Amino acid sequence: MNRVYNFSAGPAMLPTTVIERAQAEMPDWNGSGMSVMEMSHRGSEFMSIAEHAEAALREIMEIPSNYRVLFLQGGATTQFAAVPMNLLRGKDSADYLLTGMWGKKAVAEAGRYCEVNLAADSSAQNFMEIPAPDAWSLDADAAYVHYTPNETIGGVEFHWIPDTGDVPLVADMSSTILSRPVSVERYGVIYAGAQKNVGPAGLTLLVVREDLIGDAIADTPTILNYQVQADSASMFNTPPTYSWYMAGLVFDWVREQGGLRAMAEVNKRKADKLYEAIDESDFYSNPVRPDCRSWMNVPFTVGDGSRDDVFLAAANEAGLLALKGHRLVGGMRASIYNAMPEEGVDALVDFMREFEKNNG
Ligand SMILES: *Cc1c(COP(=O)(O)O)cnc(C)c1O
Repeated sequence: MNRVYNFSAGPAMLPTTVIERAQAEMPDWNGSGMSVMEMSHRGSEFMSIAEHAEAALREIMEIPSNYRVLFLQGGATTQFAAVPMNLLRGKDSADYLLTGMWGKKAVAEAGRYCEVNLAADSSAQNFMEIPAPDAWSLDADAAYVHYTPNETIGGVEFHWIPDTGDVPLVADMSSTILSRPVSVERYGVIYAGAQKNVGPAGLTLLVVREDLIGDAIADTPTILNYQVQADSASMFNTPPTYSWYMAGLVFDWVREQGGLRAMAEVNKRKADKLYEAIDESDFYSNPVRPDCRSWMNVPFTVGDGSRDDVFLAAANEAGLLALKGHRLVGGMRASIYNAMPEEGVDALVDFMREFEKNNG
């Protein structure tokens, strides 16, 4: 086996031990004589897998008992619509903090269901920073405040939780969930597509405070109604069973690593090493304001950009894959989620220094 260091933004690396355990359990899960993907989602075997995953997630995220955990489909993108449908609760506007491209998509979708107030907007700064909270225009009567704690494309991350008073805070945590401890009780809703830090694509996690459920707008498709999903334990229809099982293995792995505190320690160290390598060179650069730099996604430019293809080819050769930046911003992007080992970041930093020596 020859596993590469895969810096893809998503679907992303999974821990090798998780892949190996899934491989070992694939043909015959726990003496059932079948693989998890062949099981009825209503059978006792899969029910135990589903319950185990939820219990493990509740434990590592310390999710209070007045929150429901849903295992859904449709990706974070589906939640861009489902959030207003479920959370407007008779109100007609919602606040959005806009700090990047994913937030922009959430805003566009919400605009189909309600009035969107851009309470903060860093588009004029090219999404390189988070506007200071004292300049935000939050509306005390908004149905909720939505933000993107980590903008995956721009590499901009909140290292603190916005204070929205009594207005429920909604977070698209797709690219930062499980990367550090989080005070779930500060949130109304947390949602995340699984394919970055949780497991294979196809699964969407949703953590929602119980009192916010049950007042979806009349035209909400049944499948998107949080009440229906909560009442059916996320089995209103066939859930993404294999991704759910894999997520459970990843939750076990996070717990074995020492939980979210341990993940945060390693993640911060990985990010610090990479930003330090970028900052100490005149060849590489990262445009994000230092206090908003992401621990998970590190975009950077290589010289004047003319040797990007050479950089990528040489990186591939060295077993460092998927470093090409998002098509909207160009350059490079190293996504260094939980499953990227610290050695992978060390190898990237060594490679970058060597490349600069020969090309800088
Ligand atoms: C990847 C990503 C999305 C899109 O997720 P899908 O599951 O593909 O819909 C949305 N928001 C953020 C912050 C992301 O990183």
